[in-house]
Amino acid sequence: MREPEAMTRTDPQPPEEQPGGSPSTAAGPAASDDPGVGGPIVIVGGGFGGLYTALALSQQRRHPPLLLIEPQDCFLFLPLLYELLSDELRRWEIAPRYDALLAGLGVAWLQDRVVEIDAAQRLLHTAGGRQLHFGQLVLATGARMHSFGIPGVVEHCLGFRSLADVERLQTLVRHLRLQRRPLQRLAVVGAGPSGVELSCKLADLLDGAAVVELIEQGPMALPQARAFNREQALLALQRRDVRLRCGCRVLEVGADHLDLHTASGAERLAVEAVVWTAGLDFAPPAIRPQPERDPRGRLLVDAELRLQGHSHLFALGDIAAVDGDRDGSETSSPLPATAQVAFQQATCLADNLLRARRGEPLVRFRFQDLGEMISLGKGEASLVGGGFTLAGPAAFQLRRLAYLSRLPGRSHQLRVAAGWLADWQP
Ligand SMILES: Cc1cc2nc3c(=O)[nH]c(=O)nc-3n(C[C@H](O)[C@H](O)[C@H](O)COP(=O)(O)OP(=O)(O)OC[C@H]3O[C@@H](n4cnc5c(N)ncnc54)[C@H](O)[C@@H]3O)c2cc1C
Repeated sequence: MREPEAMTRTDPQPPEEQPGGSPSTAAGPAASDDPGVGGPIVIVGGGFGGLYTALALSQQRRHPPLLLIEPQDCFLFLPLLYELLSDELRRWEIAPRYDALLAGLGVAWLQDRVVEIDAAQRLLHTAGGRQLHFGQLVLATGARMHSFGIPGVVEHCLGFRSLADVERLQTLVRHLRLQRRPLQRLAVVGAGPSGVELSCKLADLLDGAAVVELIEQGPMALPQARAFNREQALLALQRRDVRLRCGCRVLEVGADHLDLHTASGAERLAVEAVVWTAGLDFAPPAIRPQPERDPRGRLLVDAELRLQGHSHLFALGDIAAVDGDRDGSETSSPLPATAQVAFQQATCLADNLLRARRGEPLVRFRFQDLGEMISLGKGEASLVGGGFTLAGPAAFQLRRLAYLSRLPGRSHQLRVAAGWLADWQP
């Protein structure tokens, strides 16, 4: 296990004016009234929410002691996982190691998993048997695959959220291409963004060695997406002969088949493998006393990203359900579980953690919708944002460039950019 690096002195500088938030009328707890607020800021989970909060705090010249607790040794830039599957990007580019990312920033990293939090004592317990004190705690443990209790999903389905998932899928694709038996089928369940993007990439990689069946319970693919992106996605699926089956519910998954309920009745579909991308489940560490959770199991936080009833506990990203969260659009939908939201919340939360320590009013999180980009097979993408739409190879390049500026840490961005320039062939 890695030992924490030396930490900086607790004496934060006033934070700069941050985008992504506006002053709230609700005053935060005064530092002088709160004996524990001087302790370290501990961040649980090093994904988009947690890592980018740590990075934003580390940019303050004299920031409080910071500890990131994360069981994996690499950060994973999930929006580019499809390009890792297709070998269009390299592993080190989208999965930089935490020790390299955090070197010299004054952020300690503990490779461990938090299992229990005692909010009253400000203590947390880890799977590795550690007991640690915190002044403020940030929960950013994200989401995981949701089986909805459907028999066979956990036992037989592949997921698509980790480096191990990518390796398993690459092995499967190689196997199906070598085998090339007639009527080979690979099913992807869930026609949300992950299912659609993955189906396009898989169809390109399989190159006719197997048919991709995309199974969706609802009436359409990408119901939440922008109309332009949905149209482009449907065209991309058609071009690759991906069989999109809407209104089709999975009843059970077997080792070599799927049992489905369709409009015309029950159906058994023989498949070589099933990839499950439908739904998100939430399993934060146990917290005492239990905080309020929404019906999906997410932690309820106020507009300033504080857990309701816990002035020194905060949450962001997929695990957080923001009170009255709305995306500010005309239709005013709830905030989506996206990296874009987590990324923006991180800036706001870093500011609020420091404000709370100084006894200043916290700022409300306001989501700024910057648009939507989807990957649609090798070398193709579609995007909507900034008042324009684009699809095809140019969109693919633009999407890559947009994500380059979102990769964690300036030096990692520069290394990746240098690698792309070296590969570039005019
Ligand atoms: C394949 C895929 C593609 C996606 N593409 C896009 C996209 O194009 N655009 C977009 O905006 N969003 C996209 N998303 C969604 C986006 O990745 C998530 O919304 C975002 O990662 C949420 O950030 P987070 O910090 O809440 O969780 P995560 O990034 O999932 O990070 C959670 C971290 O917490 C750690 N953790 C969990 N439990 C514990 C514990 N008990 N103790 C310590 N650490 C713990 C995990 O190991 C993990 O590193 C995609 C998601 C997937 C799966």
